[in-house]
Amino acid sequence: MFEPYCIICKSKISFGKIVCENCLKKTYAPSLTEGDFKVYHYGKYEEPLSQLITEFKYNSHPKIGKIFGEKLASLFLKLNFPALNYYVSYVPSNYISKFEKGFVPAKLIAIYFSSILGFPLIDLFISKALKKQAQLSYKQRSKNVHNKIRLIQSPPENIIVVDDVYTTGSTMNEIANLLENKCEVIIGLTMAKTIHNHSL
Ligand SMILES: [Zn+2]
Repeated sequence: MFEPYCIICKSKISFGKIVCENCLKKTYAPSLTEGDFKVYHYGKYEEPLSQLITEFKYNSHPKIGKIFGEKLASLFLKLNFPALNYYVSYVPSNYISKFEKGFVPAKLIAIYFSSILGFPLIDLFISKALKKQAQLSYKQRSKNVHNKIRLIQSPPENIIVVDDVYTTGSTMNEIANLLENKCEVIIGLTMAKTIHNHSL
């Protein structure tokens, strides 16, 4: 496909590119969330990164998945983690969204991330949620969110869990519960973290 313009700022870019270097630079704003394990975020869920994520998730743009994998790999290298035998996995999408989109966004990022760093990629989690949140009542909704991820094999000693967006942390908490006492090192990596605005 011929894509001569940056999808964010519309400036001219070279063949095969989808977003310009200037816009990409603006996506980098790393942060750390310390919960049951540490989750590192490449940027904030605000423009232009939020636009790229929307384009990636809802228009299934695989080139953006490659860019995100590269960016997370560069973040991982910058953070100077001890050299261990890491495995890479990802936060699963629920069945319906997987069926509708035809791909699992976090998995695509994890595929590029793991291949750049030479870490094996494993399918560790599966989503149990079969119903779309919007179709459920409030009561059903909280039930749907609770325990929606299941472990499908015994986890490795050192695991990196990749996701696209970190919102409330409930998913990473669930993953922490599933991996509790089973792993030595758990590292979370997401492309973006949602910023909570408490303005009145
Ligand atoms: Zn641009």
